[in-house]
Amino acid sequence: MIDYHQPLYRPPAEANSVIIQATLGCSFNKCTFCTMYESKNFEIRTLKDIFTDIDTMASYYQDTKKMFLADGDVLCLDTKYLIQILDYAYLKFPKLRRVSVYASAFNLYDKTLEELVLLKEKGLTLIYYGIESGSYEVLKRIQKPISSQKMIDGLNKVYEAGIKSSVTVILGVAGKEYSTLHIKETANIINQVKVTYLSTLQLMLEEGRKEKFVKNFDGKFVMLNEREMIEEQKSFLEQLNTSNKVIFRSNHVSNSLLLAGTLPKDKHRLLAEVSYVLKNYLL
Ligand code: SF4
Repeated sequence: MIDYHQPLYRPPAEANSVIIQATLGCSFNKCTFCTMYESKNFEIRTLKDIFTDIDTMASYYQDTKKMFLADGDVLCLDTKYLIQILDYAYLKFPKLRRVSVYASAFNLYDKTLEELVLLKEKGLTLIYYGIESGSYEVLKRIQKPISSQKMIDGLNKVYEAGIKSSVTVILGVAGKEYSTLHIKETANIINQVKVTYLSTLQLMLEEGRKEKFVKNFDGKFVMLNEREMIEEQKSFLEQLNTSNKVIFRSNHVSNSLLLAGTLPKDKHRLLAEVSYVLKNYLL
């Protein structure tokens, strides 16, 4: 079996996928809320090492249909390099139907539509992407400074290329002061793009990260309590106005309220569930 470079992360939906590390760590690695790759220096693995891992996994899981290319933002790879990996993966796994990667807002924005179309043709089927917040004011303070227009452009390119997208939003990431702005501008992004999956997580800060938030929010960062997190969830759902079908989930380990539905069809039912919890359990 493969000797993975730890720590290794994958989206929950990739539990049954073959995982191949094409890169190690995250090429950006500066977001204040994220500690996933703080112990790793970013590295692009050699094709020789990647192919050896693919060969090893193919000898065990010949029938696999799903592959996830790790680590943190494999879309940062040069398109020709990524295509060589995809070609080799599909060659070695004859039943492979789906290959997914994480992408940061920066490396998705950097890819052209032509490159994404080519990647789709070569079998890249799904991109996991953290929006976190649609507010530039908030994104600056969590050290992921990218404009909402660049995120909209990036996500629309993915859609146009025919690649599915799974995006995440972090409830509570703006603290109390910027909560209203955070939710308004995040819903505004979702309403302008056509994503396939949308999830909300709740901010969880590891040891030492709270201080960074306080510093970056000019000493005024106040964590939302449980009720305020769910109120953000409610406000976000209220402001969503998607015309296309979006599979919505709030089922991460961080979520105190589990929700699942398809938007816009289930919007009223989801809001009724949130309101019920706010009225009866979070007084
Ligand atoms: S781009 Fe993603 S993986 Fe990298 S530090 Fe930010 S949240 Fe973490």
